[in-house]
Amino acid sequence: MPEQSRSVTFKNVSKVYASRVNAVDGVSLEIAAGSFVALVGASGSGKSTLLKTVNRLIEPSMGDVLLGGVPVTAEPPHLLRRRIGYVFQNIGLFPHMTVGENVAIGLRLAGERDTAARVAELLALVELPPKLAARMPDALSGGQRQRVGVARALACNPGLLLMDEPFGALDPVTRDGLGKAIRALHERMGLTTILVTHDMAEALLLADRVLVMEEGRIVADATPRALLAGQAGAAADALVAVPREQAARLAELAR
Ligand code: ADP
Ligand code: MG
Repeated sequence: MPEQSRSVTFKNVSKVYASRVNAVDGVSLEIAAGSFVALVGASGSGKSTLLKTVNRLIEPSMGDVLLGGVPVTAEPPHLLRRRIGYVFQNIGLFPHMTVGENVAIGLRLAGERDTAARVAELLALVELPPKLAARMPDALSGGQRQRVGVARALACNPGLLLMDEPFGALDPVTRDGLGKAIRALHERMGLTTILVTHDMAEALLLADRVLVMEEGRIVADATPRALLAGQAGAAADALVAVPREQAARLAELAR
């Protein structure tokens, strides 16, 4: 059974790098268990830094991050990370290991030996045929590789899924298909999901709640509906204007 989804709480979280960049600047917010949240913003706005404070790839300079009300520092990072799936853009499949071995890494680290059946199940979950387990990563398409990355992230039944621009390098059709697949997995597994993306259209279509980040701060926090209605402030309006105008132009062309 999947681990129960958990809330994520940021309490006045800041991160100052040695370069003195205030990458994250006093972020406080609560992400409800079971919600699908998109974190949107320009490159350099602090999205990845904020996300990585959750699985402790980055330690905040100030403030606290809680998972299900418990500080993420309450257990060793390797145990914490078993409960948190993490997918990032260049998903870093190990090139010298088969797809199956890549998917099973987390299971093996957790001490499981007989992983073949579970690997097949995980591949099915991301809609890949079981025979792909024997292939090497370089014999997959970009979209298939991202699906393998998702399967690997879900191997230990995490309650929380973090994704950092997971669709970045994919063509629009593959990207859309994978987005829908992940939303369906989110529902089916009862996950809490945080998706970092620079694509507002994707955020609006996939998430229950959209956070807009600018220079380390959350400058908008609203539902897609409120964003589209222009109720989330100037920074959010500027980002929503692009997909809104494209949708209007497409509708015009189709008339
Ligand atoms: P985003 O994911 O939104 O593109 P990041 O969180 O990667 O933003 O970066 C936020 C800011 O912190 C940027 O100005 C970036 O240059 C800086 N930064 C990120 N990582 C480091 C690092 N390891 N050392 C110093 N500065 C960093
Ligand atoms: Mg980033």
